[in-house]
Amino acid sequence: MALTGGCQCGAVRYEVSGEMAHHALCHCKDCRASAGAPMVAWMAFPAAGFRVTQGEAVAFNSSGASIRHFCGTCGTGLYFLNEQFLPGIVDIQSATLDDANAHSPSAQIQTAERLDYMTKLSELPEFARFPGM
Ligand SMILES: [Zn+2]
Ligand SMILES: [Zn+2]
Repeated sequence: MALTGGCQCGAVRYEVSGEMAHHALCHCKDCRASAGAPMVAWMAFPAAGFRVTQGEAVAFNSSGASIRHFCGTCGTGLYFLNEQFLPGIVDIQSATLDDANAHSPSAQIQTAERLDYMTKLSELPEFARFPGM
């Protein structure tokens, strides 16, 4: 079964099928800088089963052989390739899946670079909407 997803503005859409290798939350500094967020969820698949079905992502060489692909219009990070460390693999930013809630990560990785406060999220008060609404 193919999974589908895309960027926030809808200009870039993708489809992926095949056996998922892993699904992890990455805390590395490179991911944080790229996303402008405290962590990024990644789902790895064989690259042969991945294709962009609409539009074209912009590629950015963020470090070493790491190529990050994002929508040039809305900026959503979409997928990652690294032929040196992940040959034949595409890592998809799983929050961009149409049905992101159906796929839970099974690990946290690169915790050596994790922001300290990310270990204490369960201690924060929660609000179903904005506080006071
Ligand atoms: Zn977009
Ligand atoms: Zn990372």
